[in-house]
Amino acid sequence: MKILKLPKERLDLFASVVQQFGELHAPVQQDGKYVFKPLTRWSEARLEYDRTILPPKKYFLPPRETLFRYSPGAGFEPCTEGLDQRIILFGVHACDVFALNILDRVFAGRYDDPYYQTRRKNIAIIGIDCTPDRHCFCRSMRADFVDSGFDLFFYDTGECYQVLVGSALGDDMVMAAGSVFQAVDAADIENYKQRSADKRSAFELEVEIRDLPEIFEMEYQSEIWKELGEKCLSCGSCSMVCPTCYCFDVADSVELGSRAGTRQRSWDSCLFANHARVASGENFRGPRASRIKFRFYHKQRGFVAEYGRPSCVGCGRCISACPVNIDVVHVIDRLREVQDVARR
Ligand code: SF4
Ligand code: SF4
Repeated sequence: MKILKLPKERLDLFASVVQQFGELHAPVQQDGKYVFKPLTRWSEARLEYDRTILPPKKYFLPPRETLFRYSPGAGFEPCTEGLDQRIILFGVHACDVFALNILDRVFAGRYDDPYYQTRRKNIAIIGIDCTPDRHCFCRSMRADFVDSGFDLFFYDTGECYQVLVGSALGDDMVMAAGSVFQAVDAADIENYKQRSADKRSAFELEVEIRDLPEIFEMEYQSEIWKELGEKCLSCGSCSMVCPTCYCFDVADSVELGSRAGTRQRSWDSCLFANHARVASGENFRGPRASRIKFRFYHKQRGFVAEYGRPSCVGCGRCISACPVNIDVVHVIDRLREVQDVARR
């Protein structure tokens, strides 16, 4: 992998060059929080941010989208509007890139999803390193560093950004910017190592995930699930903000007096009361306790069995979004009954 450096005073110039590769989107401040949005000018971008309200998954799996239209005469016609739009997503944190790599395994693995895959091809990712806050535990989830799934990745090393080139497109961006990128020297490497050590020691939260699937297996009947079921509001916020929750619902919208219509999909949540209800009216996860238990088991147990690692990347969004303070780290700590595993 090619590693270069970009002096910070040349970042504006690079941002102007990179716009030839697509519409530039980055985190901007909104009501005291951060959201990924198209930029009207580069100065709106906030590259030092804690976390965006919604993760980058909203670009690849939009909250609502029309999949196809149908009519008795024309049959099925896929809706591809906007799929080929070239976007540069600037300032994606490592955990969110890691989350996209996880979504790739779901939507570009055993089950091919052409909508997701086309967007993944057309949306470039420029990642940026970050400093953990009190809700971050990505290091415990082995998602504080990524070596794939991005085109460029920026590390702040003081006066420069050290830049990993992760794809041919990233290389094209670097080439288009010409001499603004320079070779790294021994001092840059030392700066990087110091920055990496500083970041490691900045984590306030730690979770032990080795043997966690086994602990979950043993604690299936734990009273914790009942307690959480009594507390949870089933609002679904934790799923909506999660970079790796990918459940969706599919519904047809049929034009009145005709057999033509459209089929849409929209984000769903396993916390919603109707999520597991089937046509006969049977609900496989009626009680709230079984729904919240399912979310935890799918993230930390089921995904490990299917894909070899938990689907949680430790971004902390569900902790900061939950209106009743249900905290994944605290739940894992209680399941282990070892109070010194997680610390704040
Ligand atoms: S479960 Fe929570 S901490 Fe884990 S990836 Fe999802 S939102 Fe982030
Ligand atoms: S955000 Fe909290 S209250 Fe809402 S569904 Fe998730 S766990 Fe339950």
